[in-house]
Amino acid sequence: MSAVMITRKVRKWEKLPGKNTFCCDGRVMMARQKGVFYLTLFLIVGTCALFFAFECPYLAVHLSPTIPVFAALLFLFVMAMLLRTSFSDPGVLPRALPEEATFIEMEIEAANGNVPAGQRPPPRIRNVQINNQIVKLKYCYTCKIFRPPRASHCSICDNCVDRFDHHCPWVGNCVGKRNYRYFYLFTLSLSLLTIYIFTFDIVHVVMRKYQLSNQREQTGFTVLEVLVCFFTLWSVVGLTGFHTYLISLNQTTNEDIKGSWSGKNRVQNPYSHKNILKNCCEVLCGPTYPSVLDRRGVMQEDSPVSAASAAPSSSSSTNPVPQTTVRTHTHINLNIKSRAITEGVGEK
Ligand SMILES: [Zn+2]
Ligand SMILES: [Zn+2]
Repeated sequence: MSAVMITRKVRKWEKLPGKNTFCCDGRVMMARQKGVFYLTLFLIVGTCALFFAFECPYLAVHLSPTIPVFAALLFLFVMAMLLRTSFSDPGVLPRALPEEATFIEMEIEAANGNVPAGQRPPPRIRNVQINNQIVKLKYCYTCKIFRPPRASHCSICDNCVDRFDHHCPWVGNCVGKRNYRYFYLFTLSLSLLTIYIFTFDIVHVVMRKYQLSNQREQTGFTVLEVLVCFFTLWSVVGLTGFHTYLISLNQTTNEDIKGSWSGKNRVQNPYSHKNILKNCCEVLCGPTYPSVLDRRGVMQEDSPVSAASAAPSSSSSTNPVPQTTVRTHTHINLNIKSRAITEGVGEK
């Protein structure tokens, strides 16, 4: 049975390696595990809904009508920052093409020489100089590239991410070069929103108590909100404080955990301006970087189909085989190889 090649156009995101999920035709990019992200959405939306339903009407009448307006603006900002962090490319680095990978590995082998059998080959590292500091670039065995400085491979998303900070299950995405500032603004605004709701919940309880109102059942929801806000406060405000400290040093969570610039090996942080204000400006107001993935770019893909299924039959003569049904689930690199094999066989 001979094979027939059908060429179809596919978006590049459909063929990207790694463990990300895409929707809206590649516009939205997230990690595969999204359970905790839905919990984040539920907690934020649920707490705010209770606040708007049970506290705001009372506080707007008895205290100030600006209280619900400010809460609504803060809530919208929190949601915008959360979705911006969760749905964007954090700075994923493309993997090497098979030919590039072969070339890099040949270069490494040539540099290392022949390693006697039974001996461990030397680590695959390249040194670069940044601001008079020697920084090691490590080779990623999965992506087949020497990672740029500050990049790291996320085991959950299975991608190398530029200026990798950490993988955050709460936002359902990696936090890296392209979404760090939005992540920080999310934690900062969420801290403010939590403090705001917590404060006005307590004001509401106190005002009702002194008013000797008979609407006691409504304060039950207020107590629930106070409890949620109280536990959120510790974690979110603590996290914001930690990231403020990291930004003031121009350091990532990954570098802090690994102690990359702790002074051992006499390597100081080459990215720090030794000035808190300059570091904050660079991290929060520096240039934004375009995605290098080109997720919505179009590429041609040849898919082999058997001649029997491709030949028009009586039932398909009026309804030809739709190209979209010819889908291969193989990796693009394997696809190139299988294509070469199939074509080789066909030429004989
Ligand atoms: Zn990698
Ligand atoms: Zn990740």
